[in-house]
This record gives sequence, structure tokens and C-alpha cells, in this order.
Amino acid sequence: MRFDVVTLFPEVFSPFLTTGITRRAFESGQVEVHLHNPRDHALGNYRRVDDRPFGGGPGMVMMAQPLRMTLQAIEQQRGSRPKVVLFSPVGQRLDHMQVQRWAQSEGAVLVCGRYEGVDQRFVDAYVDEQISVGDYVLSGGELPAMVLLDAVARLQPHVLGDQDSHHFDSFNPALDGLLDCPHYTRPEQWQDATVPGVLISGHHVHIERWRRDQRLRLTAQHRPDLIVAARLAQRLSPQDEAVLAEMAS
Ligand code: SAH
Repeated sequence: MRFDVVTLFPEVFSPFLTTGITRRAFESGQVEVHLHNPRDHALGNYRRVDDRPFGGGPGMVMMAQPLRMTLQAIEQQRGSRPKVVLFSPVGQRLDHMQVQRWAQSEGAVLVCGRYEGVDQRFVDAYVDEQISVGDYVLSGGELPAMVLLDAVARLQPHVLGDQDSHHFDSFNPALDGLLDCPHYTRPEQWQDATVPGVLISGHHVHIERWRRDQRLRLTAQHRPDLIVAARLAQRLSPQDEAVLAEMAS
């Protein structure tokens, strides 16, 4: 899959693309990432990419034409017209289902806004989908782009160290959309706290049941909405319900 990122600050992507567990996905081209700076496609001595808003008010607005020229260059490189995504508070909030959809996609052009945002005429003419990362405002779409790319990369086969360990992560529908269980590592005794005994019992069936119970408890405590969803989808067994009932009593 191929993502073309349109950004005025391509340099902020380099540590992200070359560090950590997802690096393999980006360096091998499993998730191809190409960076494009609209400034390279802007005209005039100053290569202007932003200007003051019509109607007055604070801040600057990203101009439509350099973005359009960047898009044209990307289309030429790819030989097709890819889907165009704009990061914006306007968009639907990113969640696991969205990430899964992108992880199985052909990729897209990811447009990172800056300043007050992008000239609406560019949005109307070229943007297919808008994505928000939450109800707060960031200074640019670069972090949202990295959020999406990271989440997509870790879902690719063989990217995580243990094969497909993302299977056990929070929100996976295959594990009924529950949160992940708590994790422990050495030493067995730390300050006044010990590791739950079952985890060092070597009894795999008990460990699995304990993990399931913990997922249920943690989810009921922190995200009761996810328990409601799992119940609606009829994903909870009588044993699961017994754990939740015991917790509530
Ligand atoms: N004036 C705009 C915010 C502009 S912030 C407003 O109030 O809605 C500059 C850029 O940061 C945006 O164009 C967008 O690309 C990005 N951005 C800011 N917050 C975001 C969020 N919650 N989700 C996705 N992108 C965001």
C-alpha cells in the first residue's frame, strides 16, 4: 500500500519513519510513505503556500493551488487518482474499525493542514474523506497522519516482533472489542507488589481464563460502552457474564 503525505513540514516524519517496531514496515515498503511539500509546487520567488483569510480574522489559510499542483504530481507518479484524505476536526473520529479499513486499503493521499486550515475550495474539489483524531485542536495534520500510519503499520502481517501480537491488543473485534489485560514482567516482587500467582503457575488454561476475566473487568470499569457493544453483538459467554455479575455485586 502507498501513502503520499502532503505536508509543509516533511522533516518531522523522519524520526517516526526510521524508529521502533514500525520501521520495518516503512523501510521495506510494506507501507510505502512518500512525502511531498506543497512549497515545491508553489509559484513565485517566495513560493507562497498560505495567505490571509478573506473576511479578515486571525491566522493564515493554506492556498488551494499549491495543494492542487502537489496532488497532480502525485497522480502522475502513481499513474492513478488515489483517494484524498484531509486531517481535520470536521472528520469522523479515528477508531479501530477505521484503522482496520485503512490497513487493508491501497493507501491514499494524506493532506496535513496547517495554520487555520485549507482553502475550502480545495476541500470541496479534491478531498474524499476527512479524519479527526479527537475533539481538540492541533497545530497541524502531521501528528494525525503519523497516528494513522503507525496504527496501520502495526496491523500489517509480521510487523510486530511476535507474529501478529496485535491480535491481543485492545479493540480487536476478534477478541470482542475488549480492552487488553494488564501485563507484568520481572521482577516477581517489586516494592510491595507481587505478580498475580496464576501468571507464574505455568497453567495455560488458567492463564487464558484469567486474562479474559481481566479484559472483562478492565473494560467494564473503564469503558462500559464497549461491554454494551460486545453484549449487543452477542460476543459474551455465560462465563463472561458471570464474571461481570460478580464484579457488579
Ligand atoms: N481552524 C481549525 C483548526 C486548524 S488547526 C478549526 O478550528 O477547526 C491546523 C490543522 O491541524 C488542521 O487543518 C488539521 O489538518 C490539523 N488538525 C488540528 N486538529 C485536528 C484534529 N483534531 N484531527 C485531525 N486534524 C487536526
